[in-house]
Amino acid sequence: MLPMMDSHSNSSFRLILANRLARYGLLLAALLLALLLASPGLLRGLVRADQFMPHATCYLRNPRIIALHVTSDLLIGFAYVAISSTLGWLVYRSRREIPFHWMFLAFGLFIITCGFTHFMEVWTVWQAVYWLAGWVKVVCAIASVATAIALYRLVPRILALISAIKISEERRVKLQTVNNELEAFAYTVSHDLRAPLRAVQGMACALTEDFGSRLEPGAREYLAQITDASRRMDVMIRDLLEYSRVSRSEFELKSVDLDVVMAEAKAMIEADSKQSSADVRVEGPLSNVVANPTLLTQVMVNLLGNAIKFVPPGVRPMVRVFAQDKGNHLRLSVKDNGIGIPPEYQGRIFHVFERLHSQSKYPGTGIGLAIVQKAVARMKGELGLESAPGQGSCFWIELPKA
Ligand code: ADP
Repeated sequence: MLPMMDSHSNSSFRLILANRLARYGLLLAALLLALLLASPGLLRGLVRADQFMPHATCYLRNPRIIALHVTSDLLIGFAYVAISSTLGWLVYRSRREIPFHWMFLAFGLFIITCGFTHFMEVWTVWQAVYWLAGWVKVVCAIASVATAIALYRLVPRILALISAIKISEERRVKLQTVNNELEAFAYTVSHDLRAPLRAVQGMACALTEDFGSRLEPGAREYLAQITDASRRMDVMIRDLLEYSRVSRSEFELKSVDLDVVMAEAKAMIEADSKQSSADVRVEGPLSNVVANPTLLTQVMVNLLGNAIKFVPPGVRPMVRVFAQDKGNHLRLSVKDNGIGIPPEYQGRIFHVFERLHSQSKYPGTGIGLAIVQKAVARMKGELGLESAPGQGSCFWIELPKA
């Protein structure tokens, strides 16, 4: 009894069959071609031209009709060779990503053998090598039939792939819309939260100034906590607004001088840097990249600020900034001698409000790296991190060279 097959295993079976057909057809056709080329005796027999008359005789040696046929056949032949070479190159370059790549190769062989039949047409105008022309056609026939059957078997899979692509594109658009709405919502909320917060801060300040001396020490302590918490909330809202601005504003990408950006970023962290006696070294000269100067400065300020901040107590922060050539891109790294980040947290720290330490140990809002990630994405760059606890961290960004 035949085993029952569900639709999934049925289509997998079809796919395997189509792949096999394409593969075996390809092998058989290639084998025949190799046999023809490698066996001189066989080839000599095939290129015997004394049994028949060449096509030029049928064309009555009319130069115009000969030119018409020869030119067309040559053009078709070369175009076929070019098409199949391109397919072969495509499969070679992206064989991991291209689905059904055997099908592409089978197509390539089918097209190239079709090309050869046209070259044979040119040859047989002057020499009647019809046996060879016939065998080239046999190879072409095998490749064509194998490709045709394999393609037919693949049709359901290709259709399924197309509908999967359509669905994922629809999902992407929906997600993008929801994301945009969320960002707009976050912006409005944080913007509107600022006004009442300012009122709380103002009132707490007024209370301290006007009645502070008359309050009991316990009440003064509560008031100090209100002031401190509202100040922290203000910083968080400001950072959240900054994150929204990076997400929503239009930014022009242009050639940016990294030396200028680094000088500006260093100047912006100067106060923190002095306070912790940090040694920040930029190994220049750095070249130009395609980026947005404002976003890039913001990225570097955040990365440098973190590199200085997250060091064990009593350790002098040592930060190195250097560039590496990565072909079309430039990798800019910020390496520190800080506390490092455990591998299990390295993905999470780029989320908004994600922090690994208490405020008292290392103050912050947990938005800096989210801004870095968003800004790098908006500049069409890449972002990465190499770090281990106790061994420092190296954050890098990659941007296209200008
Ligand atoms: P914040 O600096 O305000 O805490 P970030 O978003 O910049 O927020 O960073 C998120 C978390 O990632 C930090 O709280 C810290 O735990 C970790 N982190 C970031 N940079 C470094 C670094 N250079 N070394 C060690 N930990 C880091």
